[in-house]
Amino acid sequence: MQNTRHAQSITARCTGCQQLADERAPLRCPNYGQGDVDHVLNRCLPAGVELPAADDTHQQPYSRYRQRLWVYTLLRQRELTDRDYLDLVARIDEQIANTDGKGFCITPLSEATALAAAIGVEALWIKDETRNVSGSHKARHLMATLLWLEGTGVPRERPLAIASCGNAALAAAVLAKAVGRPLTVYIPPDARPSVVERLQQLGATIERCPREGSTVGDPCYHRFVAAVSAGAIPFSVQGPDNALALDGGLTLGYEIDEQLGPRTPQALLLQVGGGALASSCFSALLESRRDRPRLCTVQTRSAFPLHLALERLLQRPDLRRCAPNAETVVDQLLSEAAQQRSAFMSPWPTTPSSVASGILDDETYDWLFACRGMLCSGGTALIAEEAELARAHRLAHQHTAIDVDPTGSAGLAGLLASGDRPRSALVAFTGVTRGD
Ligand SMILES: [Zn+2]
Repeated sequence: MQNTRHAQSITARCTGCQQLADERAPLRCPNYGQGDVDHVLNRCLPAGVELPAADDTHQQPYSRYRQRLWVYTLLRQRELTDRDYLDLVARIDEQIANTDGKGFCITPLSEATALAAAIGVEALWIKDETRNVSGSHKARHLMATLLWLEGTGVPRERPLAIASCGNAALAAAVLAKAVGRPLTVYIPPDARPSVVERLQQLGATIERCPREGSTVGDPCYHRFVAAVSAGAIPFSVQGPDNALALDGGLTLGYEIDEQLGPRTPQALLLQVGGGALASSCFSALLESRRDRPRLCTVQTRSAFPLHLALERLLQRPDLRRCAPNAETVVDQLLSEAAQQRSAFMSPWPTTPSSVASGILDDETYDWLFACRGMLCSGGTALIAEEAELARAHRLAHQHTAIDVDPTGSAGLAGLLASGDRPRSALVAFTGVTRGD
């Protein structure tokens, strides 16, 4: 590719306040924190421009899909050439492989015929993210931020911060260690010992955050927000705190699009904690294909804030339930909803507990784009019972060779919970089994 300016400049605009992103400080909306507004940046292709083609000379997702990523535009605007960007991806990927034993690659998508038969659906596809860097999909979200930090020369002393109880913290710690950047991880006191030990091995600073008094919301998240206010980089997998987390996650949806080709399952079932996975994945499918599955998100009976948000949106008379809604109608509605966030999304009032412990977020931070995916595809927000979560995990191990954990197989539990069960479905197994 020639050493020319990136022809198709991608931009980003806040869904809540409509402010254009500041490309020198692209992680958050310039008006972050102001009012009862969800300031999540929505990265957009220029009007009338088709999605750039994948560069199939590359198997590394951040190289293959680079012309679709906002971080690529941001770095080209900083005078990096296309070659510079590709070299940067290769250098960081090698450093990650030296730390974790593997770098980024296109993860497998395969048809699970035995599992489909056991559940009683005609066809079932599994996207296997247990093979990804650090054993989950979380590093995908963080790589775009790492490219921006390294490509723009953000000082190495500036600390990174993340709030997480498991996979996101581990992914952040692998990536931070790979490039030699300090990371502070805000975790709950009951985080698994095996996770804490691995975080320590990777050199992360660990801050335990107990729930105190009547304060609502996740105390780890509150401490993370305070650290970012004091100057830390939000090395977060949540879009409102770091828009590049959603940019990096797009690669997952683009891969699914290419791997499915002409086949389109009736439903895509994705487990939701913070909501970035469903947001990124389905945003990519909305861009890349006409024939889309219904997006069905899956939460546990213990905490389902996204389900409540969707129910509140569906009270609007201009929306048709269980039928795909026009994207322009949905975008207008979500822009209005983003300006009164607490009417749709608020912290879960009790402390949740589930075998799928990785999706018990107090709030679905990325509820807006997850709802967009469901509303534009005629999907729904499912709630899985504990027995369904346990059965899905058991069936996954009986009928596949993927060593998925109960959070990672929660999308499959949604299929078991689905009253109107689709004939064909795609699920993502997102996290590998770890010790206690
Ligand atoms: Zn804003």
